Amino acid sequence: MRTAVYPGSFDPVTYGHLDVIARASVMFDRLIIAVLNNSAKNPLFSADERVKMIKEVTKDFPNVEVDSFDGLLVDYVRRQNASVIVRGLRAVTDFEYELQMAQMNRKIAPEVDTIFLTTSLEYAYLSSSIVKEVARYDRPLGEFVPPFVEEKVRLKLK
Ligand code: ADP
Repeated sequence: MRTAVYPGSFDPVTYGHLDVIARASVMFDRLIIAVLNNSAKNPLFSADERVKMIKEVTKDFPNVEVDSFDGLLVDYVRRQNASVIVRGLRAVTDFEYELQMAQMNRKIAPEVDTIFLTTSLEYAYLSSSIVKEVARYDRPLGEFVPPFVEEKVRLKLK
């Protein structure tokens, strides 16, 4: 049984994340979406709210679970008996940080590897921050997030 963990802030989950989830879910027996519970990042949604949103929009993937975690990622990955961390890469600007994190994680937990899925081109520009920015100007979000998430973002920003 191969388990992978896809960690992130997901504040909120976008079609870019869902694209990575769909592609990673066919590579592993079990894929855990792990929401980082980090109040230092000053998120728009609580970890619980983010978990609920992701559960709703991934309910059609039978091998996808959604959870939240705090503390060190590799400790969480070990607790889940997972061997792989999944991350997405959009542009070179993501690369330096991602490489450093992957190397640090490997130093601490050599049995855990990180794999990167490069973004599908249509989502290369898409990030949770951009979605929040556009939402603040009351623009439609239909191209960026599922309708369920759009509604939650609207309610939150009211
Ligand atoms: P974090 O704060 O951990 O970067 P994010 O929710 O911003 O959390 O991103 C989680 C992961 O999803 C990261 O690996 C990020 O590169 C990836 N990701 C975010 N948006 C996209 C996208 N549009 N296409 C591909 N990967 C993405």
